[in-house]
Amino acid sequence: MSRIAYVNARYLPMRDAMVHVEDRGYQFGDGVYEVCEVRGGRLIDERRHLERLQRSLGELRIRMPMSPAALGVILREVVARNRVGYGIVYLQITRGVARRDPAFPSPPVPPSVVVTARRLDRSRNEALAAKGIAVVSVPDNRWGRVDIKTTGLLPNVLARQAAIEQGARDAWFVDKGGAVTEGASANAWIITQSGAVVTRHADSAILRGITRTVLFDAIKAYGLSIEERAFTLQEAYAAREAFVTSASQIVLPVVRIDGRIIGDGKPGPVATALRREFHRFAEAG
Ligand code: PLP
Repeated sequence: MSRIAYVNARYLPMRDAMVHVEDRGYQFGDGVYEVCEVRGGRLIDERRHLERLQRSLGELRIRMPMSPAALGVILREVVARNRVGYGIVYLQITRGVARRDPAFPSPPVPPSVVVTARRLDRSRNEALAAKGIAVVSVPDNRWGRVDIKTTGLLPNVLARQAAIEQGARDAWFVDKGGAVTEGASANAWIITQSGAVVTRHADSAILRGITRTVLFDAIKAYGLSIEERAFTLQEAYAAREAFVTSASQIVLPVVRIDGRIIGDGKPGPVATALRREFHRFAEAG
């Protein structure tokens, strides 16, 4: 079965799913995106993802091309046409197609909209979570507005590749003050020796993950103490547990940071429980 993508009002086989060479997403990374988990064929936390999308578009002054409800219809259609039971759906909106010039097109052009979906291997993801992952730290050399979910991800690409070349799965960005900001495609968390769950406060130095937001509800419901603050790499090395969160991996335990073993080197009980319980707190639609 050929995969189907939505491109500017058309559902097309992947091989025919193209955007123009002068799309500003392609030339400048002038666009935003969202990734939603699909579970049992349903979108997880669609409302929150579409709210964040609207915020990202607003910050970049890109017009919302249609209502959130209309986008939701397209997301579902792409999921259904690709028969995704468990996987992800990807939505990208760019400022559109115009002769190459960094300034906004004047008059404005219609934004380009692309949606794709793909299945993920559930047993592989579960096996990964049961084993835990290794991460390496890299200097955070991104721009100052990573709270906007833009398609401009070159530092993330290079960080991820550096991690893989060092035998790790992902990278954690560290700012000039020695504090961990977040992962290359996930938010970063630790659990201190005293049992506090710590993740960086959401300012313009991290993406406010939807999984992160939902997990706060789970953490509160279980009566764990949360500290929303910067934490250093040294604190992370000494943590009882560590994990990352993202829509595609939910809660993924981290068992090694820069080659140092975290806790007893196995996924910790809190991260494992939060992973198991997460969907009780998420919205499925
Ligand atoms: N931080 C970065 C840099 C990301 O790319 C992502 C997800 O893609 C996240 C955090 C986690 O966000 P969410 O939980 O909404 O997937």
